Amino acid sequence: MTDTLRIGPVLWLEQALARDAGAACPPLAGTVHADVCIVGGGFTGLWTALELAREAPDTRIVLLEAEGCGFGASGRNGGWATSWYDELDSLVAHFGAQQAALLAAHSSRAIDRIEELCGEEGIDCDLRRGGALIAATGQAQEASFEGPLAAARELGGDAVGRVVALAGAELRRRTGSPVLRRGVHLTDAAAIQPALLARGMREAALRRGVRIFEGTPVLELERTKPAVLVTRAGRVEAERVVVATGAWAARMRELRRAIVPVGSHIVVTEPIPELVRGLGWTGGELLGDARLLVHYAQVTRDGRIAFGRGGGAIGTAGRIRPVHWVDATTVATVTAGLRRWFPQLAGVRVTHAWGGAVDRAPGHLPFVGTLGDHENVEYGVGFSGNGVAPSALIGRILARRALGVVDELTTSALVSGPPGYLPPEPLRSLGAVTIQRAVARAEAAEERGQQASRADTALRGLLWFTMPRALEPRAWRRR
Ligand SMILES: Cc1cc2nc3c(=O)[nH]c(=O)nc-3n(C[C@H](O)[C@H](O)[C@H](O)COP(=O)(O)OP(=O)(O)OC[C@H]3O[C@@H](n4cnc5c(N)ncnc54)[C@H](O)[C@@H]3O)c2cc1C
Repeated sequence: MTDTLRIGPVLWLEQALARDAGAACPPLAGTVHADVCIVGGGFTGLWTALELAREAPDTRIVLLEAEGCGFGASGRNGGWATSWYDELDSLVAHFGAQQAALLAAHSSRAIDRIEELCGEEGIDCDLRRGGALIAATGQAQEASFEGPLAAARELGGDAVGRVVALAGAELRRRTGSPVLRRGVHLTDAAAIQPALLARGMREAALRRGVRIFEGTPVLELERTKPAVLVTRAGRVEAERVVVATGAWAARMRELRRAIVPVGSHIVVTEPIPELVRGLGWTGGELLGDARLLVHYAQVTRDGRIAFGRGGGAIGTAGRIRPVHWVDATTVATVTAGLRRWFPQLAGVRVTHAWGGAVDRAPGHLPFVGTLGDHENVEYGVGFSGNGVAPSALIGRILARRALGVVDELTTSALVSGPPGYLPPEPLRSLGAVTIQRAVARAEAAEERGQQASRADTALRGLLWFTMPRALEPRAWRRR
């Protein structure tokens, strides 16, 4: 390997397209009719299509994707397929013990579902079920594990074995990273190569009769019955619409105060299988920390280390900006993080770096709802950087709601629209940037063993600030 650093191109997508570009899905031309039209060809849209096709094979399903399936977050993420057992305490706090148990169990089943789908459809996405190691990298983070561990003990049953405390020495032994302190093992998690999964799902959807049009951005959504989706050279008339556009949904008037695009960047080393073996990181485990500006990592099948960091650029006024895809300054910061976590990698080259946008929501959990008062248009957004497995769950909910199924999932706590609303612009972006900088300073200080300043601690507390739903303009509220 002699290649130098390439910033921008996504290694995952390059690998997936080189392995199999799949059948062509040309842009839509003319008018088509659909029972369900899905907007967005990421995991959420593809899961919705696959679940619909499985449960009601006669449904006329059309999927419109602005670029190519997997182009968005789904083809460029860290490959962490994790459940919600590490946030069990906040699930309980928000929704009560019964809903928390239900949602956590389904989030774990979503990982099983990915594995099942890969088996059923012959998708090889390098899936390895070594769990996820989440470690503190400063003393202040250590307290964050108490809540989920206590909640798991309280709930009992499967929960107890899903999130297990680990000592710092054990974490360091299993990964070779000297910066790790105590943490937890999420035992049900899986590492994947996400673009291989997204492109495999695309092929599976095509085999099941889903009509996919790529290079087809929806320019206008007429909120009528049937709904009309206008594209550059065509239109779809659809009985129902599912909006699955991830961070791009922040531009929709009904959702612009419910989610904010936030950047996340990944760097990948050259293949270093021998060095990785030397680190002792051989169990296929995902590895991350407990910061709000989270670090996340995995070892790829060919022995590279992929290392990412969330909490990047804010999408002012809901816009995804060039800085979300490629930002040399962020790449330098993430690379410095990689070298700090693994000083053993001095001299190892970083060959790829890219970014993407996350659909950050106040509750840090995805939500499903109808667009304003338009019962025939539903959305599933707000994954907040944890959507690889949860998108399988949300896709299932969206598909079943489109079919009119009433069950514990379609009526669950996730199906009540946005959990809160952010302030209007310019306050939203100014606030987000100010709070994010304060969090960065506070977490850096804590990692150095210092105390965060009072001002930064106070600003960090505003991270979860939302406006009461009652203060929203009438038209935006759900019925
Ligand atoms: C760098 C990065 C790292 C991440 N790491 C992880 C991780 O390790 N684990 C985890 O669980 N989650 C992670 N996430 C989040 C996760 O990838 C997503 O939550 C998940 O893939 C679900 O995506 P989605 O289908 O909702 O959206 P996307 O995958 O973004 O799909 C939305 C699609 O909609 C299309 N689109 C947008 N506008 C239009 C329009 N007008 N018309 C037609 N199509 C349109 C886009 O082109 C895009 O393909 C990460 C995200 C990023 C960006």
